[in-house]
Amino acid sequence: MFPKILIAGRGEIACRVIRTARKKGIRTVAVYSDADSTARHVRLADEAHHIGGAAASDSYLRADIILEVAKKSGAGAIHPGYGFLSENADFAEACEKAGIAFIGPGADCIRSMGLKDRAKEIMKKAGVPVVPGYQGKDQTAEKLHRQADKTGYPVLIKAVAGGGGKGMRLVEKSADFISSLESCQREATASFGNSDMLIEKYLTRPRHIEIQIFGDTHGNVVYLYERDCSLQRRHQKVVEEAPAPGLCDEMRRAMGKAAVTAARAIGYAGAGTIEFIVDVEGGLDDAPFYFMEMNTRLQVEHPVTEMITGLDLVDWQLRVAAGEKLPLCQTDITLRGHAIEVRLYAEDAENNFMPQTGRISHFSCPAQSRHFRLDSGVEAGDEISIHYDPMIAKLITWDHDRDGALRQMSMALGETALAGVRCNLDFLGAIIHHPAFRRADLDTGFIDRFRDDLMPPDRQASHMILALAAMAELAPSRTGNDPWDHSNGWRMNLDLKTILTFVDHDGMRDVGITYRDSDFLLMIEDREYEVRVLRQSGTGLDIMIDGNKISAKVIRDGQDFTLFHETTMSYLHHYLPGAEGEGETTGSGIITTPMPGKVSQVMVKDGDEVTEGTPLMILEAMKMEHTIKAPLDGIVTGLSLAAGDQVTDGEILARIIAAGDNE
Ligand code: ADP
Ligand code: ADP
Ligand code: MG
Repeated sequence: MFPKILIAGRGEIACRVIRTARKKGIRTVAVYSDADSTARHVRLADEAHHIGGAAASDSYLRADIILEVAKKSGAGAIHPGYGFLSENADFAEACEKAGIAFIGPGADCIRSMGLKDRAKEIMKKAGVPVVPGYQGKDQTAEKLHRQADKTGYPVLIKAVAGGGGKGMRLVEKSADFISSLESCQREATASFGNSDMLIEKYLTRPRHIEIQIFGDTHGNVVYLYERDCSLQRRHQKVVEEAPAPGLCDEMRRAMGKAAVTAARAIGYAGAGTIEFIVDVEGGLDDAPFYFMEMNTRLQVEHPVTEMITGLDLVDWQLRVAAGEKLPLCQTDITLRGHAIEVRLYAEDAENNFMPQTGRISHFSCPAQSRHFRLDSGVEAGDEISIHYDPMIAKLITWDHDRDGALRQMSMALGETALAGVRCNLDFLGAIIHHPAFRRADLDTGFIDRFRDDLMPPDRQASHMILALAAMAELAPSRTGNDPWDHSNGWRMNLDLKTILTFVDHDGMRDVGITYRDSDFLLMIEDREYEVRVLRQSGTGLDIMIDGNKISAKVIRDGQDFTLFHETTMSYLHHYLPGAEGEGETTGSGIITTPMPGKVSQVMVKDGDEVTEGTPLMILEAMKMEHTIKAPLDGIVTGLSLAAGDQVTDGEILARIIAAGDNE
């Protein structure tokens, strides 16, 4: 076995590889870009080397520099993770030439499967069923159009070099073909530098079921069962599970055999995935399945396979790369229970799954156990940047059956909280709790079909959420002890009646508050609630509202609140009237930052005369802009900030010396 390996990647997969290496006593070398000098994979590895700029093309895709680092550090092998160089045949070859083992298949296997047209031809020859269509050399528009007509609409135009759901167009009718082809070619040229296309029959009700295979250099090939990855958005997986619900043993064996045949056809060694598309129009029993593509690497969703087989796939990868035989033969590989994985992404589901960036201010998950596993590349304090994939972590649960795994997932999601960056946690919860998902009524159109259920159009924060936010605001647990026990000190400062204003998706939301002896009377819109705090510790907040107990997690970042209640996740901003933008002001005119953030604009300079309400500067935090206004008439002094400066919570921004106050 190698005493030391280099990991040519970042994020959760780099951390994942390090975990197994450490268990095996193998030392690890991490590489990192300018953007990742303090990233989790760098913190975990035994050594780490800087390889270049933040852009992947300047760092994680620099095969030459990575090989240099491997040689210099004495690594005997390179694990490419996924993405980046993992399916780059030239890199695999360069490793071999340098006498460093590439932890993955041989370069020729990568090459044969790298382009979808070639892969399909090889599979067809080997007797593996492929999706009907055209994957030929003649790439003239007329030929492709004729082939699409012949295949029958709807068809899918696919870039042969495509990946990650990019370079695909659905064409419903012949008249639309040429314009779709042209736009798909443009996208493929820009993304993959290759405009070749194949034509496929578009299945209208497909399930994506893939088989994990493993080969060694001694000619053994086995399959480690299947994963159902039908839950996709933009042709990209969001939820995966194993085994595939409803798949009978006979079909499981047939797909496993087809996958092994596919792997043998190219003399495959290492971990690989054969992706099949299953036509479930007439149900899953005996449904036709077709080879779609092969991924010649470890896949994002490999943990579900590990959970149901009890095997460590990275360990197997290392053994195969070191020339060992596969540790088990087919009959010794057993399938136990059910596992589900959800991908936690920094993205805004409602806004067409737009990737989000920012610093994670809080991230908490339940403790890991045999029922719950967390594969994460980040911790609180880490940054999700524009440079890389916005996947934050994967949450995986296991139990004896699907129902149990779903229950575990429901619990795990309920105990997970993340703030600082908008993420898809509530969207994942909505999928897991959806009755159709519970029934395993799956196909790749699921998310689109149930869009309205998964992303309810009513985005207003509920009265419950507003009540929770108000209580969180009124019961600050800075000291960690219960403020309700010795309330005099802080209550004195507040009026008997007050209004808290929150900003949600829809605008301003007022909560009227009347202080009473043992509780509060809240007025939200035209409804009254009797509310008191039962418990507040850390991020947990339990309140009693009209006699009903509700529990939530509330994460506070300056004036911004992220609230998790049951399956909802809400973002609220506490708006402080008088100083919109909320610089806490005192009579002396000292303006402090309401929250950590970045100064995006400064409209005044020292010595300027301002009147109450004059905008002084704009702060950017939590994806929102906050205008800091002058709290009173006067002269600006002590202002030393410029656009681009970072400010911390409570920092003094400037001071307004009241008119008539000076000298
Ligand atoms: P799967 O998600 O099934 O493993 P994909 O083809 O969707 O397969 O991509 C695998 C992963 O590799 C993606 O989730 C993404 O994180 C990463 N990836 C894909 N392309 C790139 C790229 N060009 N640079 C960095 N990472 C990439
Ligand atoms: P990528 O390399 O981007 O992963 P794939 O060929 O694996 O491309 O396809 C990605 C997804 O697109 C599949 O998981 C499936 O949801 C959908 N898809 C691909 N081919 C077809 C098809 N012929 N009919 C219907 N959906 C398809
Ligand atoms: Mg695919």
